[in-house]
Amino acid sequence: MNELLWAPRAWVGGRWRERVLLVIDSDGRWASVQPDTPAPESAERLAGPVLPGLVDAHSHAFQRAFAGLAERRDSPHDDFWSWRERMYGVALRITPEQLGDIAQHLYRELLAGGYTQVCEFHYLQHAVDGKPYADPAAMSLALADAATAAGIGLTLLPVLYERAGFSQPALRDGQRRFATSGADVLALQRALHRPLVNAGVAVHSLRAARPESITALAAASEGPLHIHVAEQTAEVDECLAATGCRPIEWLARHAGLDARWQLVHATHSTAEEIDAVAGSGAGVVLCPATEANLGDGLADLPGWLASGAPLSIGSDSQVVRAWPEELRWLEYGQRLSYRQRNVAAAPGDEPASAARLFERVLEGGAAAAGFANWGLQRHARADLLVIDPQDDALLGLPASHLLDGLVFAAPARPFARVLVAGRWRTLRDEAGAARFEATMHALWDAA
Ligand SMILES: [Zn+2]
Repeated sequence: MNELLWAPRAWVGGRWRERVLLVIDSDGRWASVQPDTPAPESAERLAGPVLPGLVDAHSHAFQRAFAGLAERRDSPHDDFWSWRERMYGVALRITPEQLGDIAQHLYRELLAGGYTQVCEFHYLQHAVDGKPYADPAAMSLALADAATAAGIGLTLLPVLYERAGFSQPALRDGQRRFATSGADVLALQRALHRPLVNAGVAVHSLRAARPESITALAAASEGPLHIHVAEQTAEVDECLAATGCRPIEWLARHAGLDARWQLVHATHSTAEEIDAVAGSGAGVVLCPATEANLGDGLADLPGWLASGAPLSIGSDSQVVRAWPEELRWLEYGQRLSYRQRNVAAAPGDEPASAARLFERVLEGGAAAAGFANWGLQRHARADLLVIDPQDDALLGLPASHLLDGLVFAAPARPFARVLVAGRWRTLRDEAGAARFEATMHALWDAA
């Protein structure tokens, strides 16, 4: 039987609509979304305005155990590469059970932060000694079980990771848990079939996979295909030295970019590279809080927006776990750089920075997760966020400016309730939080 929800206001078709009736079908999808409709007797009346959930298009769940633990400088120089050494130290210790506890806690935080789907860029595969687990998919299963328990959608992206650098044929010892061939990645992609879980594939980066392996994996796989690219200027320099091309340029010339491809970070780009990506249909995944935390640099947001390339956002290293704060960082980085305001806005058609960014990542996130339909529309999965109408930060805000206030002038998580596939999800689980806390102690008390 269909279930009926009614919202006083909902974000439908890129704008706020009043008195919206939302009908959930028996598969947990929207059977219909009808604005300007009085509430039927049988409908559940939602307490506040409603937004579609967003896709978190780039997550490394295990790095949640590291958030807040890399904010001190012990040497004259601290950058992405020194952070990575410390991150590897954590990656070398986590067991499948610990990964499950970390991920389940994280996934509830992501739900509370307004994400209803998470794309896991998953490279922590093997046992601590580098040998495969008895079930090679043990770490993938830990992630899938965590997502199922939390009730968030999961797009698992097993990662091709076969060398330490452009001129290094193998991985370093500290990367032994990551080693995969293309065949391993395809097997992991096929390992999991369950509700709310789908799978694509990923390539760690151009430095970490051979060109022929990348081409073969793209040809043999289906679904979204993600890759870290041009996050660091050192990576751009190494790629130029090794191939004669910049990283995005190399992908555009040699990888056969199309709408399956999702370029994660794409921080250091030229105008020609942006044009080439936009022309291919490939998407770009920006991770503003992590890119700020790691000192990566600023992506060319105006260039990417103007190009029309699909854009999405990711929580990546998990220092921030709510999309309003990611969108705020995305815009604020540009304001600080250009010494201008509302850089993401398009005067005339789309004058609101928050609305323009939200609409772009709503659509781009769906592509990153491999979904044709997403948002508050017929046939899309029945996901939504109910904004707390009593949230102190939003009281009295004109309805037309609610999204602006949510992104730029509110604490990060004013969502009172979150629906995924037609079911309300638990945003805070005491037992799960206690297991996460115990895992943190186990990982860090001896450190
Ligand atoms: Zn990443």
